[in-house]
Amino acid sequence: MKPAAFDYYAPASVEEALDQLAELGYNGKVLAGGQSLIPAMNFRMARPAALVDLNNIKDLGYIKEPGEGGLAIGTMTRDSVVEHSKVVMDKAPLVVEAMPFIGHSQIRNRGTFGGAIAHADPAGQLPGIALAMRARLHILKKGSDRWESIDDFFLGPFMTVIEPDEMLAEVVLPPLPEKTGTSYKQVSRQHGSTTQAAIASVVSLDDKGKVASLRVVMMSVGATPLVSSAAEEMLVGQEPSEAAFREIATKASETEIDPSTDMHATAEYRRHATHELIIQSLTCALERAKGKGG
Ligand SMILES: Cc1cc2nc3c(=O)[nH]c(=O)nc-3n(C[C@H](O)[C@H](O)[C@H](O)COP(=O)(O)OP(=O)(O)OC[C@H]3O[C@@H](n4cnc5c(N)ncnc54)[C@H](O)[C@@H]3O)c2cc1C
Repeated sequence: MKPAAFDYYAPASVEEALDQLAELGYNGKVLAGGQSLIPAMNFRMARPAALVDLNNIKDLGYIKEPGEGGLAIGTMTRDSVVEHSKVVMDKAPLVVEAMPFIGHSQIRNRGTFGGAIAHADPAGQLPGIALAMRARLHILKKGSDRWESIDDFFLGPFMTVIEPDEMLAEVVLPPLPEKTGTSYKQVSRQHGSTTQAAIASVVSLDDKGKVASLRVVMMSVGATPLVSSAAEEMLVGQEPSEAAFREIATKASETEIDPSTDMHATAEYRRHATHELIIQSLTCALERAKGKGG
């Protein structure tokens, strides 16, 4: 199928893009890598009256190390650039670990880091990784800008707080504390296919080996990626143990998710996979926090 007719704008600067988005309002839509939007338009699931293509704006593709630590990633940075970046591997290895699960290399060569987060696919890797990393998002509109916490960013499947006249410009990943380990675990039918369930964990230890802070994010089991409150409540300030991980996995998979059945997996399978992946991901992140293994 071919898309419905649409107008096309290719601004050369951020200012021009914001002018066009302001003028178009609800009729306009940002085009980033096009790896989700174009198929959706071809299937007529999306029928924007006009596209504002960001691909000519070179200023939006970068990976920087801000003074306060962590990483600042420009929205149009291609997934493959992030995937192979030494500085991302050093500062945010969780991002690099999840990247190969996103489709195939051809998809990652075009798909953008910010585009995947703005797309807010509950089965997508990067929305969940951004949530696990406590990302902050810089959102621009004509004449103003704002920062949003990732905790407040997702409103539902494919829905975020970004308004039609706004665009995501930058994703900031705060620095990880010392003695932090991260881990991403996923199941899907085959490599590159849709996530059936996935877990991202970030575990930080204090000097005594107790859990200082923790985030466990569950993907493809709800309308948005979900943070496990049980994990935080049960582990922070405690000695981590396999028994505690099992208890968290049971509570989270029984009470904190709302998986559905679709062509990729049954709800029951997703619940079971979430349980197992939480144990695997926490075990791996803990080993890494202690300085053992990858
Ligand atoms: C065969 C195939 C397999 C795939 N497998 C996976 C997978 O396993 N995991 C996964 O997560 N994804 C997968 N994808 C999707 C891919 O990762 C997309 O690239 C990504 O989800 C969206 O990024 P994009 O840059 O292509 O955005 P686009 O498709 O251009 O845009 C997606 C949406 O985000 C909005 N948007 C994009 N950038 C901005 C911005 N800066 N500001 C405001 N709104 C913006 C657009 O308006 C649109 O609504 C797959 C795609 C294909 C074709």
